[in-house]
Amino acid sequence: MSDLLARHRAVMPNWMALYYNEPIEIVGGKGNRVVDANGKSYLDFFAGILTNMIGYDVPEVREAVESRLASGVVHTSTLYLIRGQVELAEKIARLSGIPDAKVFFTNSGTEANETALLLATYARGSDQVLAMRQSYHGRSFGAISVTSNRSWKNNSLSPLNVHFLHGADRHLAQFRGMSDAGYIAACVDDLRHVLATAVSKDVAALIAEPIQGVGGFTMAPDGLFAAYKEVLDEEGILFVSDEVQTGWGRTGSAFFGIQNHGVTPDMMTFAKGLGNGFAVGGVVARGDLMDGPHAAGVATFGGNPIAMAAANATLDYVLDHDLQANAARTGEIIISGLREAAPRLPVVGDVRGKGLMFAVELVDPATKAPAPALAARFLEETKRLGLLVGKGGLYGNTLRMAPPLTLTEDEAREGLGILVTALEAVNDEAR
Ligand code: PMP
Repeated sequence: MSDLLARHRAVMPNWMALYYNEPIEIVGGKGNRVVDANGKSYLDFFAGILTNMIGYDVPEVREAVESRLASGVVHTSTLYLIRGQVELAEKIARLSGIPDAKVFFTNSGTEANETALLLATYARGSDQVLAMRQSYHGRSFGAISVTSNRSWKNNSLSPLNVHFLHGADRHLAQFRGMSDAGYIAACVDDLRHVLATAVSKDVAALIAEPIQGVGGFTMAPDGLFAAYKEVLDEEGILFVSDEVQTGWGRTGSAFFGIQNHGVTPDMMTFAKGLGNGFAVGGVVARGDLMDGPHAAGVATFGGNPIAMAAANATLDYVLDHDLQANAARTGEIIISGLREAAPRLPVVGDVRGKGLMFAVELVDPATKAPAPALAARFLEETKRLGLLVGKGGLYGNTLRMAPPLTLTEDEAREGLGILVTALEAVNDEAR
């Protein structure tokens, strides 16, 4: 065990998961690659869990932050005007497609969801909330209420009254031979049943990830969110899209994930990649909800000038370089390459994704049961071959990949080659 790992184990909580049998310390980065303390270089297909959206050591971001530092004022208070907040809010409001949108900045995705839940429950005067099975929205008290899956909730108590909907478990429906249309109809019936049986008549909101992140890049079928929205609209229930992983063009086909479904939500929450490594999150919501009589969000450092400088520079970079189109192009190279390789690799249970957000599910070749041990093995193999990837999903058997949106076509092919080599190695072992 390295000295740093021993010290980490001594003073950090035992539930802080570290990847790899021998965890790595990343000490440098440039472009879409990082270097560990042993000098080993990795092509990064996880981008710090989607935080390093435009790669490492980006001059535009560094200069924006350095010029803020040079002013001598890192942060005072949101009691005073902060130019970067207004500039960023204007851009996000415009891009959101939400009518009369207003923006509030936080430091994280969890705080963003906490704020959205507060706004929704204040506006509707109800503690009843809908969320999706297999969701992850954070682990503060409000956010953990709408986070699904036992292993993420542990034994937490829930201050909100939450009902979990179907939608993310489409692959189970497919496994049972159900069509998407039949599945959507069943999901909508279930939603109506939930509403009829909810404890209080008014339900505040549905919060959903357009593609579930921690849940394993699980995708609802096209048409599901639109069908849900129709039912929600009948009752005035608000729709909150958690764009913490799916925002900023990552899916290639839309700037925010929910826009792929033709749904305009009442609110969207965001975080992770926007600051390219600097802590920033927020909510963009219909103005009447944001300005509601009971609404109030508080975050001392939310929207601080350093985070705003990083976020403005990052978002400008994404727009100026049309990284949404790059995500579509490079993502297609990898997803189609993985789909091509899958038929000769029985260990691959599913390949799914959109743009630069894609996943491979590993299963036991004989029984098709989830194979988390193989996913752990795969992580070691890709590490050895110089590629960083993530894992997740309900059973821990899903390999999650979300490279920086700046990935080049050559890097896409290089990473694809490593993924296929590592899948072959795991496949050979599983036979
Ligand atoms: N929402 C989603 C979809 C997420 O993936 C995450 C983090 N994994 C969060 C919310 C919480 O964000 P944070 O860790 O920044 O609080």
